[in-house]
Parts: sequence; structure tokens; C-alpha cells
Amino acid sequence: MSIQKNLLKLKKNVPEGCTLIAVCKTQPVDRIMEAYDCGQRVFGENKVQELIPKYEALPKDISWHAIGHLQTNKVKFIAPFVSLIHSVDSPKLLEEIHKQGLKVNRIISTLLQIHIAEEETKFGFSEEEIIELLSSHMWNNLRNIQVKGLMGMATLTENEDQIRREFRSLKIFFEKLKSRILPAQFQMQELSMGMSGDFKIALEEGSTMIRVGSAIFGQRNFPPEK
Ligand SMILES: *Cc1c(COP(=O)(O)O)cnc(C)c1O
Repeated sequence: MSIQKNLLKLKKNVPEGCTLIAVCKTQPVDRIMEAYDCGQRVFGENKVQELIPKYEALPKDISWHAIGHLQTNKVKFIAPFVSLIHSVDSPKLLEEIHKQGLKVNRIISTLLQIHIAEEETKFGFSEEEIIELLSSHMWNNLRNIQVKGLMGMATLTENEDQIRREFRSLKIFFEKLKSRILPAQFQMQELSMGMSGDFKIALEEGSTMIRVGSAIFGQRNFPPEK
């Protein structure tokens, strides 16, 4: 199937108010332009070294989302233009994003990544760590950060009940946070969950942003990095 057909089919499934992020990792610029020419403007990359040349080569009205694990020493390269960082998984990273945001005079939007999968290897905060983080004094200084919500990745499994359970637990935690008094940087609006294999379940469980790669661009040669 062509990129255009895939995008049209996907858009029918994505409810209004939900953002479809086209994950273009490993895709060359001309294939990304194909999606752009179909009207797609929000793209996601998980590696900074791929994100920079694509940002430079492609039209400037694209919103770029950093979706993969981010090393602190790479933040400075994306700080001038990134629209949303989905994968914030440590206080150290929050501090660095603030620092780089301050340098380029931007308030950088982020999501906090929550570990919801059973696999041990995945990045992200636990719910307990988030609760602890909320009462930290660090928020007094992080003026160049905005926290727009949460992100999570379900276990890579065929077991749909398990995937649903994991997404549901993230949605419940999201609502729980929304009902609390939060630091001023928090504007809990977005719940980023769902990829090519599980976005339908994620949408049913309340996702507001789905990150879809292979269902748009076709199979990659290797599985997504988690
Ligand atoms: C690769 C990737 C995706 C998209 O994966 P697909 O299965 O190709 O849709 C989504 N989120 C993250 C963090 C990724 O690295």
C-alpha cells in the first residue's frame, strides 16, 4: 500500500482531537515528503542524529516530536525547534531540557514517560516516582518546561488483554494526576499511547496521541526500539 492510502485509512480511524504522529525513523526524506504532500504535518523521530538532518532538509511548518529515549547531552541539538519531547524519564533530563530551553528562550513542551509494560528493559518513571517527583523543589526552578501529559508503551505481545490492561492503567493514573494540585508547569492534556500494532486499543482506552510508523511507511528492517 502507498503512503497516501495508508494515511487516508488511518485518518478515518483517528477521532477528532487525537493527534496522529507519523513516525518516520529510518525513512528517507523523499518518503517523508510523500506523507507531507498528503497533508501530514506532525512527525516523530526517536534518534536525535536522524532528527537534525530531517529537520534541516524538510519544510519548516512540520512539528517534530522526539519520541525515543533521549540522552541529556543531545537535548541541546533539538531545543531550538522540537515541538514535544515524549520520552522524559528522569529528573536529570527535565533539568537539562529547562537549561537548554532557557538558552534558546523557549518553553519546551514535554510528556513524562511512564513505565507500564511488563518488560524490564523499558524506560520510564514508575507511578511512585512521579508522585515523589511532584513534591520536589526542583519545579521552582524549571521555568522553561511545560509538562503536557504522559506517554507510555505497552508490552510487545499478541495478548490484547494485557495491552489493554496496561493502557488502561496509564489512563487511570493520568486522570488521577489531573485531579491533583500540580506544579505550575503541568497542563495535563495529552496521553501519548499506541503504535502501529496497538493504536486501536489505545484509542479505545483514551489515547490523545498515537505514534504510528510502519502502518504508514511499511515495515522497517528492524523492530522498534523500546
Ligand atoms: C518506532 C516507534 C514507534 C512507532 O512504531 P511502529 O510500530 O512502527 O508504529 C512509536 N513510538 C516509539 C517510541 C518508537 O520508537
